[in-house]
Amino acid sequence: MIEDPDRRGVIRLLGAGAAGGVAGCASLPGAAVEPVRFAADPFSLGVASGDPLSDGFVIWTRLAPDPLNPAATPQRPIAVTWEVAEDETFARIVAAGRTRAEPAWAHAVHVEAGGLKPGRPYAYRFHAGGVTSPTGRAKTAPLLGARLDSLSFAVCSCQSYSTGFYPAYADLAARAPDLVIHVGDYIYTKPWTDPVRRHPVPEAVTLDDYRALYAAAKSDPALMAAHAAAPWLAIWDDHEVFNDYRGLHAPEGLSAQAFAARRRNAYQAYFEHMPLRRRARPSARGMALHQRSGFGDLVQFDQLDTRQFRDDHPCRGPEGETPGWIACDAAAPGRTLLGDTQEDWLARGYGVVGARWNIIVQTTQLTTYERDFGGARRVSSDRWAAYPAARDRLLALLAGRPASNPVVVGGDIHAFFAAPLQDPATGAPAAVELVTGAISSGGGGQGRYDAENGFYDEHLDAHYFDNRWNGYLACTARRDSLVAEARVVESVRDPESPARTLARLTVPDGAATVMVEA
Ligand code: FE
Ligand code: CA
Repeated sequence: MIEDPDRRGVIRLLGAGAAGGVAGCASLPGAAVEPVRFAADPFSLGVASGDPLSDGFVIWTRLAPDPLNPAATPQRPIAVTWEVAEDETFARIVAAGRTRAEPAWAHAVHVEAGGLKPGRPYAYRFHAGGVTSPTGRAKTAPLLGARLDSLSFAVCSCQSYSTGFYPAYADLAARAPDLVIHVGDYIYTKPWTDPVRRHPVPEAVTLDDYRALYAAAKSDPALMAAHAAAPWLAIWDDHEVFNDYRGLHAPEGLSAQAFAARRRNAYQAYFEHMPLRRRARPSARGMALHQRSGFGDLVQFDQLDTRQFRDDHPCRGPEGETPGWIACDAAAPGRTLLGDTQEDWLARGYGVVGARWNIIVQTTQLTTYERDFGGARRVSSDRWAAYPAARDRLLALLAGRPASNPVVVGGDIHAFFAAPLQDPATGAPAAVELVTGAISSGGGGQGRYDAENGFYDEHLDAHYFDNRWNGYLACTARRDSLVAEARVVESVRDPESPARTLARLTVPDGAATVMVEA
């Protein structure tokens, strides 16, 4: 058995309030559980960290000696110890503890490590059954309001496992940003056509199905490296649950009860596999995913949940179906995308840190995109365009608040996009939108590139659009600018595909504009 870290002199034990517990139950440090011996490495899904504060972060792992065969993990609580150190040799351990991995939560472990110093890198690892996990790296946030000259963060989305490998994550891990932001479609519940890897289930319905999708994705060495390289802030989009879902409105062909059960399974699996705090743990009512975080005096992030509290799609057909592109009137002022509670929360706290960059993290595209169907203009039924009143309220908040440098980041569209966002009242530029392309999901090819560029050219003074490559945004916030590099790979059919910078998108301090070097 491993040495009990509680006995080492250098360790400052955390109070019960700070030492994290296993998801779903109170922390029981030292609670008696039988020793376990694994048939294979229980840390096959790697380690992760998330949600950095100035005094700590969440560290995560899941015991899974055979990731696609949950029965290979002993179906009882398993003791797990954890360590956070100032260096990667673990010579100076500054926090440590013991917790339990519970079968009811797929033996996932979420520890809220606290008592750390602000703005500093740390190493962390776990031990279980005599096995030591890989080492992860995480940086605490600087103190709120403290001077910070630079923050690097990646923005990622849309990583269909069956469609492609994750060479983009290998590039991200090598660059080791301070922070990784994921804006959704971490899994897809169904395989795509022309797969390069086997989707483990035909369609996710049960809790085990959803768990299998995360287990498959997290077995990917590049994704594992990206999780181990930096703490993540994560929100979900639709495919973590069901294509284009909104709230508890049952999609076409599913009863309300069947959909609610599927959503519950999906939410639990999401929590189990992401480095989230206990406050996000799912309950009968749902999950609290929206949150605010600050990095010194430089950046405030407001992460939004754009799925759980949405009104239904407008103009559903007689069978309950929603066309992908709609021309009906969706302008009713009460229609919401965030839900009233979240919208009020955002309005109360947006810009409260007083940071130079005030970044809204959401899942899709705010810039309204219309497609021409033989002369008829239609908008996507699933983006902000189908919730115009909610979109205008958000834009009015960005335009009206004296928060410096409002920026919106998103994903979902499987294309890189950047443009100023206008004040709905005056039409004046009020913020900048940056949308990341997909890590591996398909982007629609040259036809879409020509059509969408043509449309944007007509309607926007300045924009950047490219759907032809997979990758992510590598961003650096500084006092004088926010630079987003579109990092793209040659082919997601090759796990070793090299990455390059497709475009540099620069937002200068104090101007709602974006300069493009492509
Ligand atoms: Fe997607
Ligand atoms: Ca999506």
